[in-house]
Amino acid sequence: LPTAPPGVTPRRVLTIAGSDSGGGAGIQADMRTFALLGVHACVAVTAVTVQNTVGVQGFAEIAPETVAAQMHSVVTDIGVEAVKTGMLASAPIIEAVAAACADLGIGRDRPVPLVVDPVCASMHGDPLLAAEALDTLRSTLIPIATVVTPNLDEVRLITGIDVVDAGTERDAARALHRLGAQWALVKGGHLRTSTQSPDLLFDGEHWHEFVHPRIDTGHDHGAGDTLAAATAAALAHGYPVPEAIDFAKRWVTRGLEAAYPLGAGHGPVNPLW
Ligand code: PLP
Repeated sequence: LPTAPPGVTPRRVLTIAGSDSGGGAGIQADMRTFALLGVHACVAVTAVTVQNTVGVQGFAEIAPETVAAQMHSVVTDIGVEAVKTGMLASAPIIEAVAAACADLGIGRDRPVPLVVDPVCASMHGDPLLAAEALDTLRSTLIPIATVVTPNLDEVRLITGIDVVDAGTERDAARALHRLGAQWALVKGGHLRTSTQSPDLLFDGEHWHEFVHPRIDTGHDHGAGDTLAAATAAALAHGYPVPEAIDFAKRWVTRGLEAAYPLGAGHGPVNPLW
């Protein structure tokens, strides 16, 4: 992505997400990617997770009105060219974020594009979103997404569709688009039968397929966050959604190739080289 010369204000993005104390995923992954891509990152914290490479031991939620207040504070002063949501923890936080997006002109058919990474659980299966919040996610946030970026577990939770092949992957993309997202990206990276990582992008009319080699590292913590963050950075630069996703896929593939072991569990993606 183009970077601003020294002393010149770069593109500005806002991530609405949770903190990962292990430094692998969440806000920490977003900030790494935003800094490396030369965009200024504002942060609305939704939750503080107690987390290491082995799992998420717990989390404390931020009050919904404090999440919304962070959004209002930075958008009215600093301004943003793209917004990304990650871990939102609860239905009241999702509702507060959706309301603030409406107030601030964020979302599809509004001035500022919105990337919704519908984080439901960690890769270890620890819940990061209350089960009863799925309805709110479907009815309130996905309908205002410029692009929604679920992995296959999240697809199953949101649409009820078990993606096992190319046909069911298309069904899932159609279902996500019907929920109201402008673009739906179904990430096939967890399709265990595949040696490739086919991601499918759909806007109700056009299909885009992104096929990259599947990188089986064991160290892929924060890959989803990093993909959504790189997408938001590209959108902030005015890339159309398919080009932004293409850029972000390459970014994450590079991060997976350079991922490193850490602790006793899963190390983080590392787009730092
Ligand atoms: N922790 C936080 C705060 C996150 O936002 C996310 C993912 O979005 C995770 C953990 C889970 O990351 P992973 O699925 O790579 O374990």
